[in-house]
Amino acid sequence: MVKLMSDLEENFKNLPFEEKIKIMDKMTEKQKRDAFDQVKYICKDYCGKCPSYEGTGETNLAFCSIGKSSLIKEEKGCLCGQCPISKQMSLRWVNYCTQGSALELSKAGK
Ligand code: SF4
Ligand code: SF4
Repeated sequence: MVKLMSDLEENFKNLPFEEKIKIMDKMTEKQKRDAFDQVKYICKDYCGKCPSYEGTGETNLAFCSIGKSSLIKEEKGCLCGQCPISKQMSLRWVNYCTQGSALELSKAGK
């Protein structure tokens, strides 16, 4: 059982973003809410400290999930590449606050 779990985890780790999001879509609403809270918690240390974010009055987080910010207009550097969520979800883009969510960027073929 433990081996099976670690195999599943190993498989998940190597999947592209598009496959991971399909799996996560099957989670319960509570699981989705908890996962989103966790993303926001981690994001505080990246978006929250990013030069594009600071001083804009923005208080939202997790733009890879929620999409563009209505307050951030200038790209002054992006810390998403260093954020563990990028690795965890196989995110391959940056500047979600100005460019849109990972799902939108994927659907746009970017
Ligand atoms: S998405 Fe990137 S550029 Fe935008 S606030 Fe977050 S770290 Fe900064
Ligand atoms: S990838 Fe970027 S937007 Fe997403 S949680 Fe990390 S820092 Fe925030």
